[in-house]
Amino acid sequence: MSRTALITGSSSGIGADIALKLSQAGYKVFLAGRNEARLTEQAGKCSAVGYLAGDLNDDNFLKELYLFANEKLDGIDILVNNAGIYIWSAIEKTDQSKISEVFKLNLQVPFNLCRLVVPHMKTKRWGRIINIGSISGVVGEANASLYSASKAGLIGLTKSLALELAEHGITINLVNPGWVKTTMTEPLFANETLDESEQIDMVPQRRWIEPYEVSTLVKYLASDNAVGITGQSINLCAGLSLG
Ligand code: NAD
Repeated sequence: MSRTALITGSSSGIGADIALKLSQAGYKVFLAGRNEARLTEQAGKCSAVGYLAGDLNDDNFLKELYLFANEKLDGIDILVNNAGIYIWSAIEKTDQSKISEVFKLNLQVPFNLCRLVVPHMKTKRWGRIINIGSISGVVGEANASLYSASKAGLIGLTKSLALELAEHGITINLVNPGWVKTTMTEPLFANETLDESEQIDMVPQRRWIEPYEVSTLVKYLASDNAVGITGQSINLCAGLSLG
């Protein structure tokens, strides 16, 4: 029987690649994102058992997504918390409304989805939760304190749940990518908020991380072979952080 996976933020970028990689590896996948047209197209490429578009910061949508994915997949064995937003803003210019928006999507939504999927995983005595953090949450990032703080929160969530769920056959890990070219980052360089060559010069390997590098690691963490890896915060960042 093939294992099942819910991947949030899988209409584009890193999440789309994770969904494709898992489906090619034989997992049954369920996709979620905001852009319905892109999500429909990606779900087709992944032969997904289902997909649902909506705003994860809307509590009703989150519940609907969980119930629909759980029904279609007949239980969620693997949860990939990938959906996220990035805000580049000096602290004094950051609108107060952004605080709850960023913390909700990047930290509370992963917490909530973990809360919902864990009972099934406990019953099965098998589960994999993979959170997508950011190297920004590990080393900090000027003008991205809100984003960095929300991603740093995932480190505590991952470690605590790893301890809590270890005896139930459930592992939980965090992957922290460095710069990846996606719809999240391209506008920052296109509108010269950030200078691309300056940023890449700071990366020891002088390059972007490719989505396939993240999806390949996620596929491994989702496998039976990765059973001994839990509570880890894994930096996939071309040398940006060595800690
Ligand atoms: P992306 O913009 O291509 O993808 C983000 C995904 O999240 C999309 O599918 C989008 O629909 C979904 N999403 C955003 N807001 C949502 C909401 N309110 N409700 C539901 N879904 C929502 O960006 P990406 O670079 O592929 O980002 C994926 C993850 O990787 C994010 O968690 C991001 O923080 C993390 N990350 C990205 C980079 C990078 O350089 N691109 C680096 C480190 C970490």
